[in-house]
Amino acid sequence: MNIFFDTDYTILGVDGSLRPQVEQLFQYLKSKDHNIYIWSGNGLRTKDMAKHGLTDFITEYFEKPVYDYWENTSKLPLNHRPDMVIDDSLEIVAILGGIWVNQYYFPNNSDREMEKVKEIIVEVESSGSSDNPRFRSLKIF
Ligand SMILES: [Mg+2]
Repeated sequence: MNIFFDTDYTILGVDGSLRPQVEQLFQYLKSKDHNIYIWSGNGLRTKDMAKHGLTDFITEYFEKPVYDYWENTSKLPLNHRPDMVIDDSLEIVAILGGIWVNQYYFPNNSDREMEKVKEIIVEVESSGSSDNPRFRSLKIF
């Protein structure tokens, strides 16, 4: 799958710190041959990923649409469109399909949100879907 991660408050806190277990999740996803994309409404976040040593995991960076999610995402190259988005905004998850996460603002070592994301992805891998209320089914472009 092409899995698109939002940046601010999804994998980075307000101070730019990395959410716990992001790297472990990325390692798992790569081991399962998924493609990891980073997108943001605040431009290309290449430097932020480099700062946290995550560059090697990332397939591509995009600017995330901030409106008309469906129409604007449809403009991405065919092989670089999301099968699943991970975001703290429920709206974009509901429209594009994926997993909603709790907003991550302040550094918190006990945050386990990325483990929950992994559990849902494992479920989707094995059954094609998940009954978890955070999950919205995949959209086919
Ligand atoms: Mg966000």
